[in-house]
Amino acid sequence: MSDRFAAIVAEETAGRMSATCREISLAELPNEDVLVRVSHSTLNYKDGLAVTGRSKICRSFPMVCGIDLAGTVVESRHPAWQSGDRVLVNGYGLSERHWGGYSGYARVKGEWCVRIPAVFSPEQAMAIGTAGYTAMLCIHALEDRGVRPDSGPIVVTGASGGVGSVAVMLLARLGYEVIASTGRVAESRDFLTRLGARDLLDRAELARAPKPLEPERWAGAVDSVGGEVLATVIAQTRYDGTVTACGLAGGIGINTTVMPFILRGVTLAGIDSVMAPLTRRERAWARLAQLVPADLLGSIYRVEPMNAVPQLAEALLAGQVRGRIVIDVSR
Ligand code: NDP
Repeated sequence: MSDRFAAIVAEETAGRMSATCREISLAELPNEDVLVRVSHSTLNYKDGLAVTGRSKICRSFPMVCGIDLAGTVVESRHPAWQSGDRVLVNGYGLSERHWGGYSGYARVKGEWCVRIPAVFSPEQAMAIGTAGYTAMLCIHALEDRGVRPDSGPIVVTGASGGVGSVAVMLLARLGYEVIASTGRVAESRDFLTRLGARDLLDRAELARAPKPLEPERWAGAVDSVGGEVLATVIAQTRYDGTVTACGLAGGIGINTTVMPFILRGVTLAGIDSVMAPLTRRERAWARLAQLVPADLLGSIYRVEPMNAVPQLAEALLAGQVRGRIVIDVSR
């Protein structure tokens, strides 16, 4: 086992944060009970915010970035894990308060680890990553509130992004009529149609101040955008429908009224992946293992080396990345 390996490390100098790819050693890793040889991580929106310093994600420095990791246990003092086990970690404060997945090795708490489903390679598990696991959490929240394929159309916002593209794929696979809202209708039409979208909706139709109630369209929604888009989706949601809100790519404010909630019984369900309890995570990953078709998954991601992360983080925040990016930490 080599003592030195590459990592993306955020540091703060004179109040300015910068993240660079450099070598660190095993001795520098935090003292947690499971040592993982990381093979892959991913690039999520939150990673973009962390690596560029656009938002204060890293809470202490130096901080190894990367909110996701997948790999193999090398050493464990935790009863649930043994050397050779294939594990993944999503969230739990990685890249915020705990060193994350852009690193050849990581020491993590055993209770953060989820076994990688047998049907997935570590690369495929990271193609899903936090974005895809969050999409699954959204769909479980819809189902738990009674939304079914025959309830009516489901709108997915930010559909070309990570959460959005996996949500489109999963909902279509489950038999829902999926309407994909995107700011890139022309460029993403083939991509989203192949994933199973019935139709595309230009983001501009939703990114405006809505009336308190608008004609009822959606039985449910997976919203990764927030802001005016979310407010308009809420105003268009059908009686008894559920809107799952997980993202802020379009803004953190929502200017809405109580009307959809008190006159149509609409539910706004908040979705958090970071501190979701283990049972919810295991349920999501077990379902992903049943639902995700390997061929379609292969069409939504590409693999990039670690030193490409800073540049890709900028592109992702600029809305220029489609689907998912897997990071091969050994390259
Ligand atoms: P991506 O960057 O992959 O996707 C975001 C998508 O949102 C883009 O592809 C684009 O889709 C759309 N978008 C981008 N900028 C804007 C804008 N200014 N206004 C409206 N739409 C925009 O990010 P992820 O899929 O990784 O994450 C999506 C969101 O979900 C992020 O805000 C992220 O922080 C959040 N998230 C939250 C989690 C949780 O636990 N709650 C977990 C995972 C993600 P298009 O071009 O198709 O319109």
